[in-house]
Amino acid sequence: MLPAPPPATLRLNIDRDALAANWRALDTLSRPGRAGAAVKANCYGLGVDACVPALRDAGAADFFVAHWSEVAAVAAHVPAASIAVLHGPINRAEAEYARAVGARPVINSLTEAARWLEAGGGPCDVMVDTGINRLGLAAAELADPLIARLEVDTLLSHLACADEDRAMNEAQLRDFAALRQQLAARRASLANSAGIALGPRYAADLTRPGLALYGGVPRHELAGAIRQVAFPQAAVILTRQLKAGQSVGYNATFRATQDTPTAIVSLGYADGFLRCWAGASLAYHGSALPILGRVSMDMVVLDASAAPDLREGDWIDVPYTLPEASAATGLSQYELLTILGRRFHAEQSGCARDAASAKASA
Ligand SMILES: *Cc1c(COP(=O)(O)O)cnc(C)c1O
Repeated sequence: MLPAPPPATLRLNIDRDALAANWRALDTLSRPGRAGAAVKANCYGLGVDACVPALRDAGAADFFVAHWSEVAAVAAHVPAASIAVLHGPINRAEAEYARAVGARPVINSLTEAARWLEAGGGPCDVMVDTGINRLGLAAAELADPLIARLEVDTLLSHLACADEDRAMNEAQLRDFAALRQQLAARRASLANSAGIALGPRYAADLTRPGLALYGGVPRHELAGAIRQVAFPQAAVILTRQLKAGQSVGYNATFRATQDTPTAIVSLGYADGFLRCWAGASLAYHGSALPILGRVSMDMVVLDASAAPDLREGDWIDVPYTLPEASAATGLSQYELLTILGRRFHAEQSGCARDAASAKASA
């Protein structure tokens, strides 16, 4: 047995209070409906174990994942019956797994409807396509007798361009409203995060925010309501003095014109900090430290002139205000979240964590 490793040099601080506040804000904006929570892709990279309990405790009662492989981790925190699997049952094994664990498959085609009924059926959701042409039944297929045999909890559709002002939003809303009349579903659900910002007409009975829960701002209307949730930090692993004329990193793309104190930081593209961050700055107690040269797999080199006392082990803040980080890098806010690598150690702040640690020490 190896001893436990020393603390990680990358940490991802999750503000659970901000996450809970974001869910409550989106839930309020979803009235007269309620907000669920998209928790696919490990809660957009931020960690199911950190995020799902906070969402549940805030009041979320409906959870959406994409893959069947994502169900178990979420079901460790919430009832399996509150989880819907967007990718649906694409074979018998998935249909049987759904029946065994009690999560709801989202039926995306007539073939899947038949498969679900053959496996024994039970509560399911139905996705109808109103224009994104990805998953979902065609509108005309909703009238198929197979669909009438399903036990439909929620009728879903998905907006293609809710983050933009496009006529397609109204067209999808109108078509979805008509389709709702054709199917005896307990609930209807159309809006993602951006769809919620389009106003209460889009809220239906249930919304499915993902991005905005985790601090993303897909439309300006949400800017005041959404707080940053993810705060990545990386440790300094070495400081050194760069001499005038010396270069930094692969391909020597930066050359110092004067003696410059530098800090080598434990953060690279293998951690999701891609080369498009070159030219940006990280921060130490609010002082900007520009990145010098290329981003390496495991390292970036910073100009530490603004923090002359910087030492090995000091924590550097990665600027992860998502709208700004997206503008700086050209990556989408979704990509910035889901790309964060496996070397980050999750740290949680907020009441939920404090309550847990108070209990542990009591
Ligand atoms: C991912 C996803 C969502 C969440 O979308 P956001 O834009 O992150 O709010 C909602 N519905 C479906 C079908 C999705 O695939």
